[in-house]
Amino acid sequence: MLEFFKNLLDTDFMPHGHCYYWRSEIVGLHVISDGLTALAYFLIPFALVHLARKRKDLSFNWIFWLFGAFILACGTTHLMAIWTLWHPVYRLEGLIKAITALASIPTAVMLLRLVPQAVALPSQAQLREANQALELEVTERRAAEESLARLNSDLETRITESKADLERSNQDLQRRTNEVEALLTHAPIGFAFFDRDHRYTRINHVLCEINGLPESAHLGRVMSEVLPVNRSTDPILAEVFQTGRAVEREVAGETPKAPGVTRYWWAGFFPIQERDQPVSGAGVFVLEITDRKRTEHSMALLSAIVSSSEDAILSKDLGGVITSWNRGAESLFGYSAAEAIGRNVTMLIPEERLGEETDFLERLNQGQHVNHFETVRKRKDGTVLHISLTLSPLVDTNGKIMGGSKIARDISNRVKNREALKAVNRDLRIANEDLSQFAFAAAHDLREPLRNVRAYTEFLTELYPEDPDQKIQWAKTVIAEGVQRMDDLLSGLLDYTRLGGSEQEIFVGVDVSLAVQGALRNLEQMIETSSAQIAFGALPVVPGNEHNYVQLFQNLIGNAIKYRGTETPRITICAEAKGRDWLFSVRDNGIGIAQEYHGRIFGVFKRLHGKEIPGTGIGLAICQKIVERYRGRIWVESELGKGAKFLFTIPALASEVADRNERK
Ligand code: ADP
Repeated sequence: MLEFFKNLLDTDFMPHGHCYYWRSEIVGLHVISDGLTALAYFLIPFALVHLARKRKDLSFNWIFWLFGAFILACGTTHLMAIWTLWHPVYRLEGLIKAITALASIPTAVMLLRLVPQAVALPSQAQLREANQALELEVTERRAAEESLARLNSDLETRITESKADLERSNQDLQRRTNEVEALLTHAPIGFAFFDRDHRYTRINHVLCEINGLPESAHLGRVMSEVLPVNRSTDPILAEVFQTGRAVEREVAGETPKAPGVTRYWWAGFFPIQERDQPVSGAGVFVLEITDRKRTEHSMALLSAIVSSSEDAILSKDLGGVITSWNRGAESLFGYSAAEAIGRNVTMLIPEERLGEETDFLERLNQGQHVNHFETVRKRKDGTVLHISLTLSPLVDTNGKIMGGSKIARDISNRVKNREALKAVNRDLRIANEDLSQFAFAAAHDLREPLRNVRAYTEFLTELYPEDPDQKIQWAKTVIAEGVQRMDDLLSGLLDYTRLGGSEQEIFVGVDVSLAVQGALRNLEQMIETSSAQIAFGALPVVPGNEHNYVQLFQNLIGNAIKYRGTETPRITICAEAKGRDWLFSVRDNGIGIAQEYHGRIFGVFKRLHGKEIPGTGIGLAICQKIVERYRGRIWVESELGKGAKFLFTIPALASEVADRNERK
């Protein structure tokens, strides 16, 4: 075998052309035929390999590769047939044929095995048919796909729409929730919700405030735990759960916010339930109506007072037409309500006073009041009566004046009394003046005989210079003292009567510090002996007459020294502005005055002491007369043993009052 391959290319035989005797036509025929066959055999594998490579999708692709190899081998045998015509390499030719045989046998076997499968392969027509069917199917499928796509897009549109719907509903729901929340937060109404066990599940701040308890004190509890005193609402809630119907009613009770105080509410309990389902909860709204109830109560009271009042109370519109008429008006004017209402008030006014009504209506229109206007009106029977009228504008809830209310009081008796009083006063003033003149004349005339008594006492002493018993001397002293006292009393009385009443004098401005200084000068000796300390600050200028103020302060300071205690007298004089007045005070550290004598000491000749402290009991009466002359008031604040403080007011000068008002 090895030998065979060693001699593979040996040409130790006769070339094949010898067999053909080198006859050119035969040799040529063989060469051309074999050459063309070989060429064809070489070209075919190329075509097959090209096809196999390009159409990898073909079934049995590998068979083309096998055919390619087989045909290529066949081609080589034809080529070798040409070569061996001249070169007798029959061993190589045989080998190539063997290779070709080796290639052809598996190819033939494989082809045979392939035939049933190849037979099973659809024919062109079948393929076309199948293709058409496929195309139909594709078209149908495409149509189906399109309709599916349409359905899909429809579905998507619907989903998008439902999503938008859902979003809208969500937004609506959110908006409603917000609205309800805002209502619960901002409405001035209390709200609460209860679960099936009647326990609070929600409560707003208004109701918390009404109850006076925080939210935490309610949630999870029933009403009887939260408001143990207030039991009237429990049955209402139970009724709502039982009947499924809303209940509204006025309730009254107490709350921890105001223990012991009855308050009123308008409460509405309502069920919470799905349609046809049992009540799953309940709610309540609570409106505080305590103020309204109280107003109603006081209105009822007021209306009872008005209707039972003895005063005539009536109202009229802006045209003067009577709109209401109480029982007092019926009895005062004699018209019944039915007769009076709708008629004009001028029916009550005497002709000569009709102008008053025009004036009243004008004032009403301007919102002005008329207070205690005294006038005359006529009754139904024509008789006239004196009345005091008070007129007030009546305004509606918008503040618009819609008429006026009139209260008329019968003052016929008062007018009669006043007239009588005036007459008495006139008589009294005359009597007073007479008395004053008499007192003045008496005091003046009595001093004359007193002077005689004093002179004749002196004369008696001269007549009897020797008096062994000293009896004349003693009698003379008693008489002299009595005369002196009488003289003091008479001169005090004279001072008092000289002051006169509070006639309209033209008062000039008096500098009170100058008046005080004048008084101190007059009291110089007294101050020196008692070592009294007197202090006063800035004092104002007031209306009056300087002499009066000197007299006033002299009496008060003199008393403060005279009624001193064991300590050195200390006196303070002050003045302060008080409303339209000046308030003066003279304070001392003397013996003081017991409370029960505070009023009495200002009377003429009223004294609390005997001879041990000299005095006439007329000083404070003079002080009072002076102060009252200027329309002021005087009084004392004191306790026995604790000093005294005399206070008096004097109206300030008009310019000063104006200044004060401006400063305000
Ligand atoms: P009299 O001349 O007695 O002082 P007044 O009218 O001045 O008369 O006083 C009346 C009485 O008031 C006095 O008698 C005295 O008892 C009492 N009184 C007046 N001022 C004072 C005072 N500052 N302190 C204590 N008592 C006083």
